[in-house]
Amino acid sequence: MSKASEPGKPGKPGKTSKPGKTTKSAKSAVSAKSAKTAQSPTPGRPDLPGKTTRPGATGGREKWGPISIGPIMARPGELTRLELPFSRLATGTWASIPVAVLHGKRRGPRVWVNAVVHGDELNGIPIIRELVNDIEPSRLKGTVIAVPVVNVFGLIKESRYLPDRRDLNRSFPGSERGSMASQLAHLFMTHIVAGSSLGFDLHTGSDGRTNLPQIRCDLEDPVTAEYADVFGAPLNLHAPLRGGSLRATAAKMGIPVLVYEGGEALRFNREAFRVGYEGVRRVLERLGMYESGLPPVTNSPARSHASQWVRARRSGLCQLTVRIGASVKRGDRIAVIYDAATQWESVIRAKVDGMIIGMTRVAVVHRGDAIVHIASVD
Ligand SMILES: [Zn+2]
Repeated sequence: MSKASEPGKPGKPGKTSKPGKTTKSAKSAVSAKSAKTAQSPTPGRPDLPGKTTRPGATGGREKWGPISIGPIMARPGELTRLELPFSRLATGTWASIPVAVLHGKRRGPRVWVNAVVHGDELNGIPIIRELVNDIEPSRLKGTVIAVPVVNVFGLIKESRYLPDRRDLNRSFPGSERGSMASQLAHLFMTHIVAGSSLGFDLHTGSDGRTNLPQIRCDLEDPVTAEYADVFGAPLNLHAPLRGGSLRATAAKMGIPVLVYEGGEALRFNREAFRVGYEGVRRVLERLGMYESGLPPVTNSPARSHASQWVRARRSGLCQLTVRIGASVKRGDRIAVIYDAATQWESVIRAKVDGMIIGMTRVAVVHRGDAIVHIASVD
């Protein structure tokens, strides 16, 4: 792709093509469905986490009116769909990032929810689809920016990566003239992250692995930890910031991000959907933005500051003997690896007490392969 062939910057496509000029629709079709959720006054704080440190907050005293995202203006009380043009395909047509802006009628925080930073991690798509379907902008305080697919190229190729083989989640904040991953990261930072006060980054286990629904975040930050608890996944795992990730980059701007992990790559998982959808709704309620209509979480999430993968000591066929989410004690049998041709077998045991938060989904494993992920619960 040569720069000369790119007539338009993101958000400013060339005159001959206008991928950003798209549908804009009021939300009448979903009002009946969402009516069931709003029955009592909204409790919780009406303002933002990270408010004091975050640039560009919308929770101040400024007038509440339309906001512009990329080439489009979103009016209060409406759902606005737009496309952020990113790059031309070899065909000459544009590849764009789809965005839905739920801009509330009344003032409130601006949060984003994104999925598919890794192109093969799909569980966030139905979560976002249902959020956009169920939230009625006329009853929303603040703004929810929904980005169901960030890594459009990865989704099409069923690949974690971009065509340049880079990991988008190691490419933030990116730059306008860097690699493709870098430019995509920059586009996302410019139009979605900047000006927001909280983000949800929805992931799944990587290829061949499944994850227990869980939040990964900075549990040392009390505000972030509180929202993780409100989210209500079975486990909150303290995760150090990793350079180049969306979460680390947003953190530098004072914007907390809850990374949600649930299920496996290239598959939908009903439980990962339910926990993720309800979690976002609960946090929006806590922010004072929108009633969830959900009962409070009865079991507060377990917390962990340490986790480890148990690896195969030898290649073979792997049969797991624990289920995801199970509690194990040190020494418990968690898997058996055996040969196809002989009666040899090797029992794999837990090395620590903890909760099973991830596991392989493949039967054939090689020496050193990660088999079971165990979190030590605080
Ligand atoms: Zn991921």
